[in-house]
Amino acid sequence: MATPSTAKNVADVLSRITVASSQRASTSAATRLVAVSKTKPVEQLREVYDAGHKIFGENYVQEILEKAPKLPNDISWHFVGHIQSNKAKALVQGVPNLKVVETVDSKKLADKLNVAVEQCKALREERLLDVMVQVNTSGEESKYGVAPGENVVDLAKHIRDNCKELKLIGLMTIGMPDYTSKPENFDRLKEERKRVCDALGLGEDYERALELSMGMSGDFENAIAMGSTNVRVGSTIFGARDYSK
Ligand SMILES: *Cc1c(COP(=O)(O)O)cnc(C)c1O
Repeated sequence: MATPSTAKNVADVLSRITVASSQRASTSAATRLVAVSKTKPVEQLREVYDAGHKIFGENYVQEILEKAPKLPNDISWHFVGHIQSNKAKALVQGVPNLKVVETVDSKKLADKLNVAVEQCKALREERLLDVMVQVNTSGEESKYGVAPGENVVDLAKHIRDNCKELKLIGLMTIGMPDYTSKPENFDRLKEERKRVCDALGLGEDYERALELSMGMSGDFENAIAMGSTNVRVGSTIFGARDYSK
């Protein structure tokens, strides 16, 4: 059952994003909202879509494979969960309008995605697949992602040099839940962006060269203030998740 307030929630989040974006010091105003719909029924996604929002994020390969075909194909899907590299093909093949994989964390996965895009060219809405490198800025063992430092540069270079079907558009991280005491996770991602831009010769307009995907329901306004250009908001739009089913 669709929750009547879902459309209103997305409008509220969008206006909070507009305010937060206009208040930050940097010049680039736009921040993308990825409505993270994991565990939520397609009816609820449909309501958000009908309200005019077309960017959705999912975490589980099986789930996006079930949902995407039931929804309009002008949706831009972001994949924001961990991907085992042997699932890369199924993901790319099953979701022709897959726009971004935000969670690339190994050369092996990048290679598998690259091959899959190559093989699925005829199906895909867009030729290249946009990707982000996931960085484990908090160092928590429970989190996926590449450790900050040379590994990030290394993977970014690998994507640029060896994965012609992928386009590196940014870096992504999942901050610690208690943002207020841990803003350094977001600062860290920003530092990593500078490191990658410098190492790859992407220029000094870091914001334009690479995006930062950081910020979720509890901390997206803070993340925007710190330079996020892509926030991933789930429960504030769709309500709390129930994992019991
Ligand atoms: C679930 C999830 C989100 C959304 O989290 P909320 O706190 O519900 O907004 C964002 N990013 C990732 C990677 C997630 O897995």
